[in-house]
Amino acid sequence: MTSMLGIQGLSKSYGDVHALRDISFDVEAGTMVALVGRSGSGKTTLLNMVGGLDSPDTGTVLVDGTDVTGLNEAGRSRLRRDTVSYVFQTFGLVPVLTAAENVGIPLRMRRTPREEREQRVATLLDLVGLAGHAQQRPDELSGGQQQRVAIARALASSPRLLVADEPTGQLDAETGLSVMALLRGVVESEGVTALISTHDPVMMRLADRVVRISDGRVAAE
Ligand code: ADP
Ligand code: MG
Repeated sequence: MTSMLGIQGLSKSYGDVHALRDISFDVEAGTMVALVGRSGSGKTTLLNMVGGLDSPDTGTVLVDGTDVTGLNEAGRSRLRRDTVSYVFQTFGLVPVLTAAENVGIPLRMRRTPREEREQRVATLLDLVGLAGHAQQRPDELSGGQQQRVAIARALASSPRLLVADEPTGQLDAETGLSVMALLRGVVESEGVTALISTHDPVMMRLADRVVRISDGRVAAE
C-alpha cells in the first residue's frame, strides 16, 4: 500500500480561531477519500494546504513523498501544475474561453504541442460526457456541465492527486450524483487519487473511506 498523501500533526490558527488542531491521516494511492464535516470545521483550510495554497503553523503534508510545507513558491506552483489538481464548488472556469480552451489551460502551461493538446482535450471532454459541447462557453453550459469541464481541466495534466472542495455544493441532487459518479469513475479510469470534501451522504457511500473532521480535529473514520 502506497500513501499518496500523508498529513501529520497539521495545525493552523487564524487569530483566535483554531481552524485545524493536530490533524493526521493518510490517503492511499488510487483511492477516493471523502472529507466530511460541518461548515466551519476546517475542510477548506485543510484542502488548501494539500496543494500549498495555504501553509500550516505546524505539521507536514507529504504528497507522493514530497513535503509540501518545505517548498518555496515556485515549487508550490510546480506542484499544482504537475501533481495536485483542484476542483472547486464554484467551477472556476474562465468565462471568455470555450469548454475546450478551458480544459486546455493546464496543457498550455506545460507547453504541450498543439496537436497533442487538442487530442488530449477531445479525449477528456469525451470522458466527462461533453464531446458535443467543446465550443460552448461556460455561460452556455449548465452547472453540472460546467463542473464536468472543470473536472476535465483538472485531469488534463494527469495529476497524481485530485482535490475537490464540495464539488457538488452548487448542484441539484440528481446532477450532483452524476458528477460524483463521474469522479468515482475517473479514480478508476485515470488512476488518480482523490480527496473530496462533501456534505453529501451519497458521496460518502461512493468513497473508499470517510474522514470526518469536527472543530478542526479528526473526529472519526
Ligand atoms: P469549512 O471548509 O469546513 O467550512 P474552513 O476551513 O473554511 O471550514 O474554516 C475553518 C475555520 O477557520 C472557520 O472558523 C473559518 O471562519 C476560519 N477561517 C478559514 N479561513 C480563514 C481566514 N483566511 N481568516 C480567518 N479565519 C479563517
Ligand atoms: Mg469549505
